[in-house]
Amino acid sequence: MAYDPNNIFARILRGELPARKIYEDEYALAFHDIHPLAPVHALVIPKGAYVSFDDFAATARAAEITGFFRAVAKTAELLGLGPTGYRILANHGPDSHQEVPHLHIHVFGGGPLGPMLTRLS
Ligand code: AMP
Repeated sequence: MAYDPNNIFARILRGELPARKIYEDEYALAFHDIHPLAPVHALVIPKGAYVSFDDFAATARAAEITGFFRAVAKTAELLGLGPTGYRILANHGPDSHQEVPHLHIHVFGGGPLGPMLTRLS
């Protein structure tokens, strides 16, 4: 799938749309999800143009991958989630229900999160 430079998160990276920023460095930007699914729900996105985790893992430089995952951990730390715990999640492709075609890691926390997924049957 080709990268769409006009996806919502690309526009946030360019400063064309607002975001409640938590953390930013040369590799990543972290901000609060607009429709939180937990008491704390942040999104961390790489600065590079990657459609999803699959694309990122296959094509990003090692420094980008390291920098990005350090930024995810830094975001959780800044949100005070380390001691009580948190969950990270990335959707890739249609079965996962990925909505925005720019890689994003969800960071959930701030209270008990319950089981990881609902049983299918
Ligand atoms: P996903 O289903 O993994 O693609 O998740 C996309 C997430 O982006 C959802 O949790 C949305 O609530 C969130 N989202 C969409 N637009 C915005 C926005 N403008 N600012 C912050 N979060 C957003």
